[in-house]
Amino acid sequence: LIRVENLTKRFGELEVLKGITEEIHEGEVVSIIGPSGGGKSTFLRCLNLLEVPTSGKVIFEGVNIADKSVDLDLHRRKIGMVFQHFNVFPHLSVLDNITITPCLELKMSKEEAEKRGCELLSKVGLLDKKDEFPRKLSGGQKQRLAIVRAMAMQPDVILFDEPTSALDPEMVKDVLEVIKELADTGMTIVIVTHEMGFAKQISDRVFFMDGGIIAEQGTPEEVFLHPQNARTKKFLSKVL
Ligand code: ATP
Ligand code: MG
Repeated sequence: LIRVENLTKRFGELEVLKGITEEIHEGEVVSIIGPSGGGKSTFLRCLNLLEVPTSGKVIFEGVNIADKSVDLDLHRRKIGMVFQHFNVFPHLSVLDNITITPCLELKMSKEEAEKRGCELLSKVGLLDKKDEFPRKLSGGQKQRLAIVRAMAMQPDVILFDEPTSALDPEMVKDVLEVIKELADTGMTIVIVTHEMGFAKQISDRVFFMDGGIIAEQGTPEEVFLHPQNARTKKFLSKVL
């Protein structure tokens, strides 16, 4: 579904991604773990061109979206993203948050968008909040809204960057549950997370990123139980 080839990213002198070649398959759940500053967020942001790669290819559904001549909006629409800090529109009601982009970009009718929006809200237990404004929601509820908002665009993949790390501990479980349900539907998911137990449970593959490369990757069992790389071992000994 997404293939990156020799992906590099520099910020001035700093080389943050040092030539990554990897593939994310349709229906796969990939977790990205690793120490702070290792390039996890930058890598994720390059996958949907929120960050423009310095060199290399990002081939999404057969098209190199890093190529400046492609219509980026057309492709990016199929890539959902959920950030650490709940990306919702504060001035719109919960339901309008979900319907606005499908109406504008997919030319979905308001009725259709609202019907689907309500279905999605009920799946994440927020239907009773549909007319509230986001400021009335807890962090966990806001994050569930952000997830539903991404799903409303019917993306082919959703990228999550530490979706639970800004949440109070008691909110984390609900949000992880929603992500797990999404994974169970066969959605392709790439998630940067510090929730090691969760990564182990939901992932098909785990990437360990350090120093701008994917230093090790494999099944959760391989990476968590039998890490080969010394840096992976060291990192896991600190976080597990
Ligand atoms: P964390 O776990 O703390 O979120 P990370 O693995 O997501 O870390 P990145 O955010 O990708 O790491 O950052 C990797 C490196 O790139 C860091 O040294 C960071 O300071 C640098 N960096 C990231 N974004 C920018 C930017 N816009 N301009 C300059 N440097 C940046
Ligand atoms: Mg990050």
